[in-house]
Amino acid sequence: MGELESVKQQVVNACRELVANGTLSGTGGNVSVRTGDGQAFAITPSNFDYMEMQSQDVCVLDFHLQLLAGERKPSVESGMHAGIYQARADVNAVVHTHQVYASALALINAPIPALFDEQVLFLGHSVEIIPYAPSGTNSLKDNVVRASRNHHNAYIIQNHGALCFGPDMRRAIHNTQVLDKCSLAYLLALCTGRETSTIPVEIQEMMFARLREDQTKLEMKGGNA
Ligand code: 13P
Ligand code: ZN
Repeated sequence: MGELESVKQQVVNACRELVANGTLSGTGGNVSVRTGDGQAFAITPSNFDYMEMQSQDVCVLDFHLQLLAGERKPSVESGMHAGIYQARADVNAVVHTHQVYASALALINAPIPALFDEQVLFLGHSVEIIPYAPSGTNSLKDNVVRASRNHHNAYIIQNHGALCFGPDMRRAIHNTQVLDKCSLAYLLALCTGRETSTIPVEIQEMMFARLREDQTKLEMKGGNA
């Protein structure tokens, strides 16, 4: 299998897995993976049923959004994905979902503080809220790129959904699951009306340092090189 075919297939497989576990549904969200040369990405076509999707439906774009392969209309969030790959050399896979529990937090503008060790290890210090802008706009891309400079791997987009990154697709999918668990636990905790506790700052720093160590190795290599 050629390199392009392999990244396109990774996108298809990821979508199937994310539909099967309930993280993606209908045609909401979009999924991409950086190509091996680091300078392009394979992304889901716009408004296309995930269960029908085959590798030939996946689009390959450069960071100027020129179509390098594929015949379908690329996701309306292609600019956002391109901006993330340009801003974050450690990121090789991006999953944008409308997962429900994170979306609930997106409605009440509630960032998730450092609740669990594994949350900080995989997602970063907190899950911040990216300010709302309409889907598919440059304003949303700008808000996302600005937020992504804090080196975190998960965000909630106000009145929209969630965004997870990973050094590879396996980890990006894993991060959507960590976000799901944290979102539900935090929502349940908020519902009690009682104060939520966070993990100690020293542990937060230790976990985040481990995440940054892995990211720094990738940053030194440059995107996927
Ligand atoms: P696309 O189907 O164009 O990827 O749009 C879905 C979406 O989630 C927009 O934010
Ligand atoms: Zn969306």
